[in-house]
Amino acid sequence: MMKFVLASRNRHKIDELVSIMSEYISEDFEILSLDDIGYTGDIIENGASFEENALIKASLPASLGYFGIADDSGLTVDALGGAPGIYSARYAGEPTDNKANNQKLLAALSNVPDKDRGASFVCTIALVAPDMRRLTVTGKCKGYITREPRGQNGFGYDPLFFCPEQNKTFAELDQKVKNKISHRANAIKKFALILPDFMKNYINP
Ligand code: IMP
Repeated sequence: MMKFVLASRNRHKIDELVSIMSEYISEDFEILSLDDIGYTGDIIENGASFEENALIKASLPASLGYFGIADDSGLTVDALGGAPGIYSARYAGEPTDNKANNQKLLAALSNVPDKDRGASFVCTIALVAPDMRRLTVTGKCKGYITREPRGQNGFGYDPLFFCPEQNKTFAELDQKVKNKISHRANAIKKFALILPDFMKNYINP
């Protein structure tokens, strides 16, 4: 049985990771949370990229002898040179306020024409082994920033993120559909595909 520790307290993320990984991994595995292993501290995410932040988080369980998994995600807007990027959660300050973040984004893009409103949701997943060997994958989803919020589902920037393939914002999509096509789903699929090879180093014949 492979045991991983996801460096997150977000049960929703853990369940999502378990459900997508189950589709791709034949091996028995279990995903624990920081709470499950009795870690109560905070992890300071002070990296300069999604990848650095995911590695910082995944290294914590690894330093305690587990296989650590972590993700870091956010929205990058072309016309803003990639902002809010790693600062997506606290774009309009702390604590996280999704409504204020969305208002700030719309204001920042108020003079930007439709054709220049391209944006991507990005998600990087990192795995760090107890010997500190590591693996990272990044999933993306491309779209456009609308001029007003649309839809009630999802969270964060979902009401402003228009997905051309679906002809809807992420907040107008059924959650099941979003979970199939999102940046997170794309990252998890990539992760699950290369995970067995990485884990071969640690499985006894
Ligand atoms: P985290 O990876 O959970 O820390 O997400 C960082 C921030 O990026 C969130 O607080 C949201 O503002 C934004 N974000 C990440 N993924 C999504 C998404 O699927 N929909 C909307 N916003 C997202």
